[in-house]
Amino acid sequence: MPELPEVETVRRGLISVMEREVVKEITVNRRDLRVAIPDDFEDHISGQKIAKLLRRGKYIALLTGNDKAVIWHLGMSGSVRIYKSHEKYAAEKHDHVIFTMEQGAKIAFNDPRRFGMMYLTTAAHWEAEKPFCAMGPEPLGNGFNGSALADKLKSKTIAIKNALLDQKVVAGVGNIYACEALYRTGIHPSRSSKEVTPDECDHLSRAIKDVLNEAIQSGGSSLRDHKMTDGSLAYFQHHFDVYDRAGDTCTKCQTACVERLVQSGRSSFFCSNTQR
Ligand SMILES: [Zn+2]
Repeated sequence: MPELPEVETVRRGLISVMEREVVKEITVNRRDLRVAIPDDFEDHISGQKIAKLLRRGKYIALLTGNDKAVIWHLGMSGSVRIYKSHEKYAAEKHDHVIFTMEQGAKIAFNDPRRFGMMYLTTAAHWEAEKPFCAMGPEPLGNGFNGSALADKLKSKTIAIKNALLDQKVVAGVGNIYACEALYRTGIHPSRSSKEVTPDECDHLSRAIKDVLNEAIQSGGSSLRDHKMTDGSLAYFQHHFDVYDRAGDTCTKCQTACVERLVQSGRSSFFCSNTQR
């Protein structure tokens, strides 16, 4: 599933071909995504300039010159391919929406499982839409730090790993980066949220920013080197310390310490020696 760094990489890729450019045409091959694409979607967006491409959590917002906003989520399996003006579009199965820009670039949204969505709202009120109104702070923004995190956790008895996946606590941190940040901070994923100390909240908030920024940098270098797996923007190779490495040795200790644990149906990976 694309996580925040992948979505941010998609956004940066899209900026280069869409921002301040006019949409010439939109082809919608399938409307029945998680939220159906409205019938008048093409009419509202064709001929419009994309004024701004923003991200909130794992959502991308395209704000148009006619004060509309396209809210876009890649879902479980969504990906984006960009064809520069000199590249020929090669249709693939599950290409549901294709934007053609006036300068010739094409952007294809592919989503085999169709849990993604693309819907219309107004540019002025997009942040009041349901996914965003109760969303916690952006992890890479100034509003997210140790004291903001401690404030969210102080009354929670749920496991810290599950709290980090709660979009009301912090926006867009998914399973992989929650595991990696807890590993760096030495906090066991099962620890009760309210028992994470203020000092640990400081460390944890910094670790979250670090793991996300490192992954975004890795996505950026994959972009420059054209090393995206399957040619799409949403997935890239990245090294993880503990995620999906059960039975391995972590860099902090010299034993086969990495264990897997299932929490709320999701796998957590942690160092059984150093995380308490
Ligand atoms: Zn270890």
